[in-house]
Amino acid sequence: MNMSEKCKQHVDSCRFCWMCHHICPIGNATGHERSTARARALGISLVNRGAIELDEIMDNIYECCTCGACVHDCTTGWDPVMFTKEVRLRAALENKLPEYINILLDNCLNTGSAYGKTELCDDLTAALKVHADKTDILLYLGVDARYMVCKQAVKAIKVLEDADVKFTVLENEPASGAQLDFLIGAANETKEQMTACAKALDEFKTVVVYDPNDAKAIKQTFKEYGVETKAEIITYTAFLAKLHDEGKLRAKSTGKTVVFQDPYQLSRDLGETEEARKVISAFAELHEMLLNRAETVWAGNILMAEYLPEVINEVSARRLYNAESIGETAVVTACVSEYAALKNVEQNEIEILSIEDLILD
Ligand code: SF4
Ligand code: SF4
Repeated sequence: MNMSEKCKQHVDSCRFCWMCHHICPIGNATGHERSTARARALGISLVNRGAIELDEIMDNIYECCTCGACVHDCTTGWDPVMFTKEVRLRAALENKLPEYINILLDNCLNTGSAYGKTELCDDLTAALKVHADKTDILLYLGVDARYMVCKQAVKAIKVLEDADVKFTVLENEPASGAQLDFLIGAANETKEQMTACAKALDEFKTVVVYDPNDAKAIKQTFKEYGVETKAEIITYTAFLAKLHDEGKLRAKSTGKTVVFQDPYQLSRDLGETEEARKVISAFAELHEMLLNRAETVWAGNILMAEYLPEVINEVSARRLYNAESIGETAVVTACVSEYAALKNVEQNEIEILSIEDLILD
């Protein structure tokens, strides 16, 4: 396999250690050593040495959710996310992607979303009409909220309306490229999608990004791929914290006691941990879960549930158990995809709330 020297070095160095395998949400859910960073590096190194074919490890390459817990934990500085994403790119270039990934990829290229959906729910369509006029502020919803969890998208809009914010929501919102980046890494198609998105965002002074996955792409990955945005980019949670500071959220106690599920894109990648806590604390008593802030454990998402539904359900159930085991009864999320994944778990012990749910309670 044609792999960069940098990635080869990380693969060959990482594969002799397993110090991070206990914090891998996928490895813990499957119970398989093969799902962890170390085993993935070992498999890639076997391909690089010609001992096995790339096709033989592709399922394993797509088991990684790229949450970066291993990268964060690795005291020697090796980066399994980097080499996993590079293998995805190489496999795409060599036409060796698994069929279930090709389907998601084609959907992304043809419709802008891996789910292949183009119709919005009626409530969201109605809400978009109210915010069609151009203003200085764009609320960027992202494909997960628009097509898969539209009730939460409507609530995100309602929270800003209640705070008297004047904002626009695009009827034809361009994809951020975050899904393509997950599926095939730094391919030309990913960069093209990101460039088109940046151009649309540049029409606004400020862009409030609802989904942490898009926020990470726009605030971090765009720069890595040489895509520039002139607009001020702010996460939805940071924008809410600002509204709270300005007294516009009309905070009131819901009487609930909750823990917060840090989305890794905010806490590990963007270094944003206190903004959500500030808002949540204005509406509920906030306790801390084991493994919080930059140490957070990913709680699942909708995209990987498209091809690994049982594993993702187990990932989400295990994260809920972290809350249940310390006697907590409610988890607040700031990531619409984690919210949907946690809601999919059949259980009655823990209430799943978004920050919008808490504010609109
Ligand atoms: S990422 Fe670091 S801690 Fe994890 S297996 Fe590789 S070398 Fe070990
Ligand atoms: S990025 Fe996350 S899912 Fe992938 S190997 Fe590391 S800890 Fe596991």
